[in-house]
Amino acid sequence: MSQQNPSHDGALPVHASLSHIRAISAYQPGKPITELAREFGLAVESIVKLASNENPLGMSPRAKAAMLAALDGGERYPDPFALTVALAARHGVAASQIVLGNGSNDVLDLVARVFLDSGRSAVAAQYAFAVYPIATLSAGGETISVSARHYGHDLVAMRAAIRADTHVVWIANPNNPTGTFLSAAELRAFLADVPARVVVVLDEAYTDYLESDERYDAVRWLDEFPNLIVCRTFSKIYGMAGLRIGYGIAAAPVADLMNRVRQPFNCNNLALAGAIAALEDHEFLAQSHASNRVGMAEIRAGLECLHLQYIPARGNFIAFQAAQESGAAADIHRSLLRQGVIVRPLASYQMAEWLRVTIGTAAENARFLEALGKALRRETT
Ligand SMILES: *Cc1c(COP(=O)(O)O)cnc(C)c1O
Repeated sequence: MSQQNPSHDGALPVHASLSHIRAISAYQPGKPITELAREFGLAVESIVKLASNENPLGMSPRAKAAMLAALDGGERYPDPFALTVALAARHGVAASQIVLGNGSNDVLDLVARVFLDSGRSAVAAQYAFAVYPIATLSAGGETISVSARHYGHDLVAMRAAIRADTHVVWIANPNNPTGTFLSAAELRAFLADVPARVVVVLDEAYTDYLESDERYDAVRWLDEFPNLIVCRTFSKIYGMAGLRIGYGIAAAPVADLMNRVRQPFNCNNLALAGAIAALEDHEFLAQSHASNRVGMAEIRAGLECLHLQYIPARGNFIAFQAAQESGAAADIHRSLLRQGVIVRPLASYQMAEWLRVTIGTAAENARFLEALGKALRRETT
């Protein structure tokens, strides 16, 4: 180790051609509870984290039991067969149409690695999920960012932004962080209008939080639009964000391309076993949905009491305008942190006056609203 290779001159493998990597702004996750505890000397139990759209009810007890049982066999490489078959049955597709991911972020990354390259571009909406430009740039592609309409996707402008070199369009529905929603009719009109060579990614991480009259089944559109890829995750309503498991559903030839690039063992034994059990825990899903509906109403009412603007949101979170200018919003964010409440600042989305809060339990929502009131009245420093 001590002997230096003279041809290297101690230089790092860093050169100008990595400018596409330097252009990436690293993803800013919600602050972990343990980090805030260290920074402010707070007790972990006293902290409320409403920053990453995690399920406040925890995870399905059935999933937990399945994962405990799956600890046996940790010496074996994972077998994704059973979950793949269960997902295919759930969605009424062939197993060859499923692409498992280490979280659905992994699936997004697979899309970029397969369909993008330098000289290719991807279209995304202005306030869409931050992972889309990261995946695009990592693959060497260019992001075409399209101005938002009412903080959501402007599909007409996105269609117009598609160039000859565009190969991917990223759509989150509902969108994170703004919670905006596109109807099935709008999505279908867009798909009918997009050139067949362009892959349209429909990221449905929050679809399970929709009300029954808003639901649609985009998987049914795959025969008509084989350039569509639907992404789902176990991180949100299924409460398994820390286990890292999600999936894509696509036409078999598209899924085949992605499965060639996929790391063979990208989903671990515990996540696979937990996901199968979680899929069947209808009681936990119904509880989570009901709790979110009540919590959303609590948070909206609380924000209205405080005279704060918010974007009416689908999903398990809501973005609100904390202040008229960015410095004041940052102060409110800091005050919340000092009070042991973690929310998500949206400065990295160029929405520096805004904060995003995840819907919590009744107690967590009350803690958040009380802390927010104090922050606005500057009762803390
Ligand atoms: C949370 C979220 C996901 C899920 O990511 P995982 O990697 O599955 O945890 C995907 N898309 C959007 C828009 C999200 O907000």
